[in-house]
Amino acid sequence: MKRYVSLEEISDGKLYKADDMVKADCLGCKDCSRCCHEMGDTILLDPYDIWRFQKGLGKDAQTLLAEGKIALRVVDGVIVPHIKMTPLSQGDEKCPFLDENGWCTVHAHRPGLCRLFPLGRYYEGEGFSYFLQKSECTHPKAKVKVSKWLDVPELQKYEAYVLTWHQIQKQAESLQQENTDEAFGRNLNMFLLKTFFLTPYEADAEFYPQFEARLSAYRSIVN
Ligand code: SF4
Ligand code: SF4
Repeated sequence: MKRYVSLEEISDGKLYKADDMVKADCLGCKDCSRCCHEMGDTILLDPYDIWRFQKGLGKDAQTLLAEGKIALRVVDGVIVPHIKMTPLSQGDEKCPFLDENGWCTVHAHRPGLCRLFPLGRYYEGEGFSYFLQKSECTHPKAKVKVSKWLDVPELQKYEAYVLTWHQIQKQAESLQQENTDEAFGRNLNMFLLKTFFLTPYEADAEFYPQFEARLSAYRSIVN
């Protein structure tokens, strides 16, 4: 999701790579679950998140949509799923995976954006770096290696996938800007949604080969 702000405004002014140390460790978030409340439709999900949910919860995207735990929105011209907040009294809302004690019930397979927070990704050229969002979490923090904080196996593969997924979304946006036919945009979006999200993954099989197969299907229609 594009944000029209300068990096200096929202970060500590530094960019980090996976092997760098960063002051992002919220030390177990003691008594705090602020970033699991009132997040609106901003906790976007990618195909890896959907696979992890399927593996961890035994539920595919269609089931989570039917249960109202996730919903769809358009971001930069592309339809993507996001966590659907549960409304509470007095206008508050919370993530449907947060329990009454403020614990994440899907911690082991929580989405990429939750694993990343309070870091963000800064895409530049043919790659990306991480940055520390300075105002999003005011809890005391300790230094931690970025790779440890991300808590994802096979980080190099994951980062390559994150970049590819970002590029696909950018390409889908550009294709729609070049071809203003509404039907083109609708068909492309439905293809992306069905191919990368709504067609169930094999939870017990590795994610990356499944993603590659879907990527080939996508490339065969756009190239
Ligand atoms: S705001 Fe910070 S301390 Fe609170 S739950 Fe989020 S990451 Fe943890
Ligand atoms: S999935 Fe877990 S960490 Fe992410 S917003 Fe929900 S409760 Fe919080």
